[in-house]
Amino acid sequence: MKLSFLGAARQVTGSMYLLELEDDYRILIDCGSDMERSGPREASSNGQTAPAVTHPGFFPFEASSINLVLLTHAHVDHSGNLPNLFREGYEGQILCTEPTFALTNVLLKDAASLNQKRINELNASKKQRVKDRQVQMQKDLFLDRQVRETMENVVPIGFNRKFRVADGVDVTFVPAGHLLGAAHIVINVTENGERKSICFSGDIGRKNYPLLVDPATVPTVDYLVCESTYGNRLHENTMSPEDALADIIQRTCIDIPGDSSFHPLVLAVLRHFFTHLIDSIQNEIFRPFGFFRTVRWRLRAPKFICSM
Ligand SMILES: [Zn+2]
Repeated sequence: MKLSFLGAARQVTGSMYLLELEDDYRILIDCGSDMERSGPREASSNGQTAPAVTHPGFFPFEASSINLVLLTHAHVDHSGNLPNLFREGYEGQILCTEPTFALTNVLLKDAASLNQKRINELNASKKQRVKDRQVQMQKDLFLDRQVRETMENVVPIGFNRKFRVADGVDVTFVPAGHLLGAAHIVINVTENGERKSICFSGDIGRKNYPLLVDPATVPTVDYLVCESTYGNRLHENTMSPEDALADIIQRTCIDIPGDSSFHPLVLAVLRHFFTHLIDSIQNEIFRPFGFFRTVRWRLRAPKFICSM
């Protein structure tokens, strides 16, 4: 087997790995948005980038040559380029857990609506330079149609069950905590009579985190591809999330009566916001009618305003 690191190496975001087996079966693990690159890459052969880019477009490979996609979890830095993969010719399936399927659907639709909004704004401009950008953007940004095509090809499977995907290849999704549905993906491959195993950790959750299961123990494997975003740091628990939220509301809504806006655009923040807010009210840190005078909710771009 041959493994290529195609994203999230020497940077965060853009998680994508290509596992090529000896019979030319090709598995893509994750297909995330690269926040450090906004558009398709240019073809080049100077060998100065790693990996060498041999195809123009979003991917350094022919999308139609991929046999299967495995998705560790829904966050867009792991899933956000899936619609572009289909747009560039991928015709296979995506395996993930049931909650990842549901969340990915929401996040990709949201991204498509933001893309449409950007295109509409450029469309409305009368400047030719802006209109030229709009033409390019329409080529680069996926829209609802690509999201629908993507989601029609997702096959949800359960946790902790071996799933045979090809001759001599099985995959198992192991709970990773981190986000609803997030999984470590264990792949067992038998080639030339020899069995090898490799695990892709995806993002790894923390133990004892509200609303989430703890990350499960990964079985013994031959190779482990492990998230290392916080690999050189210890999580410091100087202030609990509940205390931090209470402190912000106390300082910005109560000590100085006024409004506080929260923009929980990151899914995890949204989840923790509600959890800790409800905890704070239950523990009588705040009176619910004291600051809950205004709560606004917009489905596509959540925004909360607390005011005294
Ligand atoms: Zn994540």
